[in-house]
Amino acid sequence: MVISFKNDAPIEQVEELVENLRRYCSNVQVVKGEEISLICLVGETIHIDENMINVYPWINSVARVSTPYKLVSREFKKEDTVINVKGVSIGGEKITIFAGPCAVESREQILSICSSLKLAGFDCLRGGAFKMRTSPYSFQGLGYEALKYLKEASEEYLVPIVCEIVSVNDIDEYASKCDIIQVGARNMQNFDLLKALGKVNKPILLKRGMAASIEELLMAAEYIVSNGNPNVILCERGIKTFEKSTRNTLDLSAIPVLKKLTHLPVIVDPSHATGKKEYVLPMSLASIAAGADGLLLEVHNNPITAKSDASQALTIDDYIDLRERLALVAKAVGRKL
Ligand code: PEP
Ligand code: MN
Repeated sequence: MVISFKNDAPIEQVEELVENLRRYCSNVQVVKGEEISLICLVGETIHIDENMINVYPWINSVARVSTPYKLVSREFKKEDTVINVKGVSIGGEKITIFAGPCAVESREQILSICSSLKLAGFDCLRGGAFKMRTSPYSFQGLGYEALKYLKEASEEYLVPIVCEIVSVNDIDEYASKCDIIQVGARNMQNFDLLKALGKVNKPILLKRGMAASIEELLMAAEYIVSNGNPNVILCERGIKTFEKSTRNTLDLSAIPVLKKLTHLPVIVDPSHATGKKEYVLPMSLASIAAGADGLLLEVHNNPITAKSDASQALTIDDYIDLRERLALVAKAVGRKL
């Protein structure tokens, strides 16, 4: 950390700040310059809050040399984290496909979709139980009943399942039924939930908030990892911009940026990012070409009857076609499907 300050700063206040900083970092040096002076901190500065420095009116700037997150950073761990769930690996050479409907709508629906996906080939079944809908009048999901049907599908077709949790009170229920627990975009900064999930022995699929920066996503992941759970999968799912042609704007460059900054697996959800099924195929191909470790896709057995996100749902045939095209891109970038 490098702190620049004005030369006319009251000496006793500079000493007070330096003394305070030494409580957090043992190597604090003051370098006097002609016009400005610097306080340089070498070593761990993660516990230092910039606001405690900026309170002084004579401070020019505070610059971090290292990242504000630690455990999730590439600096901390060079090798990619590979997460294994019931024989499925996430973050390795293989591209991992999470697929299923937006919401579990009935026992028959989820079993039918799971059976078709199993035939087509996929890695992990998704399906919402408690839906975070913008309108309170929209379908809210089947709740705990959905978890029961997902578990049944998982046992019958031998696939792991992922489902979004929306309440810290449901952690035990989710940990006992799901193989991976999803934190949705709307809860990315629900810090109580993140801390509690840090204590759970299940991988967490953490989606980027719709107005969250990459650094905020990594800080959210740091909450989970620093509380004891190292198995976090990051998911880019589009961010809000001024562009109206798609539901959100898929931040494709977040993939190589995240791959550089963190060792955690990075997947992409082109369904919620685009909101339109015609764009899901090109964005899936682009995501894998850009280095994503997997995809989260909404697939429905009968999209026109879907109770949520019908316009972005792929049919099973769309999914089969997508998989074929994806295999070519995966091969071109040295990955396996
Ligand atoms: C979902 O995956 O079901 C979902 C609601 O996505 P997001 O949290 O990205 O909006
Ligand atoms: Mn959805």
